[in-house]
Amino acid sequence: MQSRYSLNLGKPFGIRVSVHWTFSLLIAWIIIISIGRGLEPTQIIMHILFILALFVCVVLHELGHSLAAIKLGGEVDSITLLPIGGMAHMSKMPEKPRDEFIVSAAGPLVNVVIAVLLWIYLFYIRPVDIESMDFQTITSRNFPLMLMAANLFIVVFNLIPAFPMDGGRLFRSALAIKMSRLKATRIAKDIGQVFAIIFIIAGLFFNPFLIIIGFFILLGAKGEYEMIKYQDVLRNYTVKDIITTDYSELDISDSLEKAAERLVKISDNGFVVKAEGKYAGILTKNDLINGLNSHGKQAEVKDILNDSVEPVECNKALFEVYLDMQKKRLYILPVIEDGEFRGVLDLENLHEFFLIRKATQ
Ligand SMILES: [Zn+2]
Repeated sequence: MQSRYSLNLGKPFGIRVSVHWTFSLLIAWIIIISIGRGLEPTQIIMHILFILALFVCVVLHELGHSLAAIKLGGEVDSITLLPIGGMAHMSKMPEKPRDEFIVSAAGPLVNVVIAVLLWIYLFYIRPVDIESMDFQTITSRNFPLMLMAANLFIVVFNLIPAFPMDGGRLFRSALAIKMSRLKATRIAKDIGQVFAIIFIIAGLFFNPFLIIIGFFILLGAKGEYEMIKYQDVLRNYTVKDIITTDYSELDISDSLEKAAERLVKISDNGFVVKAEGKYAGILTKNDLINGLNSHGKQAEVKDILNDSVEPVECNKALFEVYLDMQKKRLYILPVIEDGEFRGVLDLENLHEFFLIRKATQ
């Protein structure tokens, strides 16, 4: 989720929490529905406050996952709030079945704790008479009870074994004790997709949010399964195994016009730029097109050369580099060994390498 589409809310425990712009659609939707039901402005405000309180619970849920993951050696970049719930972006996930089980359970567990605290409040601290309560709208009287019910709903809904939802992750980690992580993920993904289709069909009749959640599950399950397939195939290799020295080259003083002419003839994702025969940087296809737009074709390669691309070490694990390239949207990287430039790693070659290894595994 790009941060420019999100509003930053803060950085608890060093984890950036932001809310996606589509969240405002949810608020708008609640206002429209409430007006349609003929509610008073104060009642509408109550409904909005309720949704905000619920989303605080969702943030705490995601923090539950995140802190458990960090404790077990994972890395969490950020938490994004969407109208359908929260999402913790982890750049490194604990992978041992037991650890994964704990991380997946930690989120729903937070909502159990919140529900229990609200229950104690409602039945011991400020006892309420539930029978006399009106549940047609949210009021200051029924607010804590409704919030307790909503937290229990979050627990139950998240425990549906629809991978990559929490229940699906718990299921996968339980399977992974007995079989490979790849096979466990495949089974969890297949079951997840069945649930996704059920959600989408149910959503057509009951609640449009279920349709969106269904699609999220379909895409999420597929994406994560693909990722684990890559991991399974690539885990025994390092950058050295696919480094290419057969790259396309430009000189730092070449004109952008010359570079553009050559661009259409190469299949690589960019050029290696050299100055007096020595490595000077990488010029990606995108950099070149942008450079032509901003500097014109008479400019030289050195005018637009981006030397901020971090080179990778030859002996680095291939899957780690692959994840990094995906995350930073890099298509080509310079490779070094003992500080010396050795060649490039092109994402295209990495995909081909994966397909060949997978076919011959
Ligand atoms: Zn969760």
